[in-house]
Amino acid sequence: MKFFYLLVLLIIFTAFNEKKPIEQAHQSSHQEIIYAIKNVNIIPMTKDNRVIKNATIVIKDKKILTINKPIPNNAIIIDGKGKWLIPGLIDMHVHNLADGPYTSYPTKGPAIHFDTQNFMTLYIANGVTTVFELSARAEHIGQRNEIIRGDIIGPRIALAGLVDGSNANMTATTPSDGRQTVRLAKGEGYEFIKVYSQLNKETFKAIVDEAEKQKMKVVGHIPNEFKNNTEEAFVPHFGLVAHAEEFSNQTDKFTEKEAEKFAKISKKNGTWLIPNLSNLVCIAKQARSLDSVRNLESFKYVHPLMQSKWIISNQYNQGTNPKRVAYYDQLVDFHIKLVKAFKKEGVPMVVGTDAGTSGIVWGFSLHDELKLLTEAGLKNEEAIASATRLAAEWLEIDDKIGTIEVGKFADLIVLDKNPLENISNTSKIFGVFVNGKWIDKSKINVMLSDVERWNNANKKIYNWKEVIKKIREE
Ligand SMILES: [Zn+2]
Repeated sequence: MKFFYLLVLLIIFTAFNEKKPIEQAHQSSHQEIIYAIKNVNIIPMTKDNRVIKNATIVIKDKKILTINKPIPNNAIIIDGKGKWLIPGLIDMHVHNLADGPYTSYPTKGPAIHFDTQNFMTLYIANGVTTVFELSARAEHIGQRNEIIRGDIIGPRIALAGLVDGSNANMTATTPSDGRQTVRLAKGEGYEFIKVYSQLNKETFKAIVDEAEKQKMKVVGHIPNEFKNNTEEAFVPHFGLVAHAEEFSNQTDKFTEKEAEKFAKISKKNGTWLIPNLSNLVCIAKQARSLDSVRNLESFKYVHPLMQSKWIISNQYNQGTNPKRVAYYDQLVDFHIKLVKAFKKEGVPMVVGTDAGTSGIVWGFSLHDELKLLTEAGLKNEEAIASATRLAAEWLEIDDKIGTIEVGKFADLIVLDKNPLENISNTSKIFGVFVNGKWIDKSKINVMLSDVERWNNANKKIYNWKEVIKKIREE
């Protein structure tokens, strides 16, 4: 009898351990590759950030296995001589292209499909290995799943469901609706809540309170109703302001004193800031001329529908006049004042670009933002921290990414030159590790030229006005 049980146990055990050949192949291709970067200068972006010169770093099973320990025999060696290693970058404010919009009849599905790989390539080519989607839809969850499955090479994606007082995927006009919306968002799989401009005061407060109960952090706009009474919006658990523009919308006085007042309010409430200078700088340029968009080096990588939209239907340029240009210039100036004031007050800032709005190209824009932040007074190291360690901290994944330390996921950028000396060097990319997968410069170039080729071949199909007309007619 004993023997019989043993036999049954053995059969069960073998059955569980017997992998189908295809699974084995899948696993071995993912798990067994060990990489070692030799002689590289590591900028770990930890709090003390001591640069480790001429170091050896070993990457295995998606993670950093060792730093300055012996290299395993079967490792693939990457020569890092004279190169610099930083953590993968995090963009804390993006709007990703995903399938939509929906029209006509129930089974029809979205009118436009976007190729997820072509889109995500823009991030990967720029070393952006985590993004925070600030108006998440179900399609964004789908994109994230494609990446997690390994079908697509793309960044980690954090998702915030957007709630507004009107015209949003999720709308709420009363406190009880607001609370219910938060619970629904949680159920749908969003980890964060984004609050928006048209919420009334009481609904806004209820949403932030309910989000705390549901353990969802809150990012977003300061609703318009709080104008000239900004401090009232800074309730506990309002965690992150989505752009400096939120403060310029709250006042008509663009002074240093006003900037300091906002910094103090934020400090007191523990609310962080995404300055998002690149967007306003870009808006000011577009108000002058659309050549600033057309002539972007990265414009050719933008999906043709968006290329067309940014030119044909550009809200900043249409009907522009010198008064508007002067106003935007004033805003840019005030936003720089805000960055200085927030730095002085010691309010943490994280890098976000609002990628997806006209002229702000996914991935590429992050390097522009870093540069602008240093011009506004952040040290190079502080700007990089805002796009690595601090961003990971706000997202509460700083035990997984954001610094270069043993045990963390291998989201890494190998740079040709030192970004602590010149911030523009963050875009001198030699190769990128995305969740432990090595993508070197030649692979990046192939991926980018695939995108460019597809975009050029499909320009005619994706004229903005034609597409919109067609969707309305269907
Ligand atoms: Zn945005």
